[in-house]
Amino acid sequence: MDVLEEAILEQFRTAVGERFVLSSPEERLVYDCDGCVLLKAIPQAIVLPKTTEEVSAVVKICHTHNIPFVARGAGTGLSGGALATEGGIIIALNRMDAIIEIDPVSRTATVEVGVVNAWLNREARPYGLFYAPDPSSQSACTLGGNIAENAGGIHCLKYGVTVDHILGLELVLPDGDVLWVGSQTRRIDGLNFLGTIVGSEGTFGIVTRAVVQLLPIPVHIHTMLLAFDDTAAACRCISAIIQRGIIPAALEFMDAFTVNAVNQAFSVGFPDSAEAVLLIELDDKTSLGLETSLEELLSVVAPFKPSQTQHAKTEEERVQLWKARKGAVAAYGRYLPAFYLHDCVIPRRHLATVLAQIIAIGQRHDVLIGNVFHAGDGNLHPNILFDPDNQAMMTRVLKAGEEILDACLTVGGVLSGEHGIGIEKSAYMSRLFTPEDLARMAGLKRLFDPKNLANPEKILPHRSSCGENNTATSISHPLFTQHGAWI
Ligand SMILES: Cc1cc2nc3c(=O)[nH]c(=O)nc-3n(C[C@H](O)[C@H](O)[C@H](O)COP(=O)(O)OP(=O)(O)OC[C@H]3O[C@@H](n4cnc5c(N)ncnc54)[C@H](O)[C@@H]3O)c2cc1C
Repeated sequence: MDVLEEAILEQFRTAVGERFVLSSPEERLVYDCDGCVLLKAIPQAIVLPKTTEEVSAVVKICHTHNIPFVARGAGTGLSGGALATEGGIIIALNRMDAIIEIDPVSRTATVEVGVVNAWLNREARPYGLFYAPDPSSQSACTLGGNIAENAGGIHCLKYGVTVDHILGLELVLPDGDVLWVGSQTRRIDGLNFLGTIVGSEGTFGIVTRAVVQLLPIPVHIHTMLLAFDDTAAACRCISAIIQRGIIPAALEFMDAFTVNAVNQAFSVGFPDSAEAVLLIELDDKTSLGLETSLEELLSVVAPFKPSQTQHAKTEEERVQLWKARKGAVAAYGRYLPAFYLHDCVIPRRHLATVLAQIIAIGQRHDVLIGNVFHAGDGNLHPNILFDPDNQAMMTRVLKAGEEILDACLTVGGVLSGEHGIGIEKSAYMSRLFTPEDLARMAGLKRLFDPKNLANPEKILPHRSSCGENNTATSISHPLFTQHGAWI
């Protein structure tokens, strides 16, 4: 896509200041992809507003000139959501990074959306409070991106995902008008737009501020690692824990490949002969409550015969366990430079079967797959590793990804637990929804955005060219047949 015409760039400069409109080829290239490096699209310009008024002014210019716009936080998204696939501009919210207020009495914070997730926790800690949704990318990703994707994280099993923690938000609508939805309380009168906007991936407008709920930091915490010689036993153990009604703060799974990767990267000494490792964290308000839960948990786990049980004895040991878990994806970089990550959610009782299928799919297509995921939620994360310069490998990776999605949908799963549909999975939506379902969703989008300018082409499938071969790459795959060669 070419840069925008000078007269329009000038209008953006007037709205936000000369320095905050980027339009040189080098600057635009920086914004050509997000964490899903499979897909690329160069925007026509990048605009960096500082206030809601500036966002509104920029969006009004887009509305007048029919220019598509895409909100962007840190660009850690994994479904190509922050890409300007239809041309137009990226509105980067990183300068809107103020924590406006922390109210320890109401246990809320009012924030601008460019605030990085981990910063809010750093600022809330002195009050004995924390913001619960904790994506593994929390040291980089923004609250705006979290709201748009309805982000989850390691501790969301017990505490709920982003939508459960947003009380109110400010949205710049696609015509530039500003709307507040929700309230300072947990109750909403009228239609619940809040639940519609959270998770809408920037397709209804740009979120500029939010009031979020904070929770007291748990005082009594116990973290442990269980190793298993048998993956199926580890999966059955996960289901048994939840079936008993025990809801750990976190219940995470790592396969043997991932254990080896984190051992090499972080020297954490995870049991390297294990086929599967579970990381489990319990927390409670009282030490007695914690002891009772731990006792019950260990009695549920025992019949599945873990080969090793390690308890974190100090806060340092606990932090080390979670550091290894949160760094798992980075550790894969020791094997191949890039990863294609799916995040289907399946009913937990199918975990063992689907994991076995994923391993078989990896072997059949000769690709490396590391599994590290939010087991308690049934939210799988098969990371298919690849080398972007190896086209033959890319064909196998995409085919394996498609088969993994099919395996998950077959057992009643859904396409995404927390990374969103974006552009990467939009072509698969018709495997999950009927044309009538999709038409109703498109109708809702039209209500907010009749001109289809806010992050167009995301979530809903648009073109019907699936099945054609892409001429530039010769890869037959929905990702490519729909949109052309983006690698
Ligand atoms: C190593 C790694 C680990 C990850 N782990 C997790 C995890 O555990 N849990 C999880 O949920 N995700 C995880 N992610 C995915 C990603 O970090 C999340 O989706 C995150 O919420 C994206 O935030 P961001 O600021 O980077 O958003 P971006 O990537 O910039 O944008 C993501 C989407 O949000 C939209 N958007 C951004 N800001 C706004 C706004 N202000 N208003 C409207 N729309 C907006 C964009 O248009 C885009 O569609 C991980 C990613 C990586 C790379």
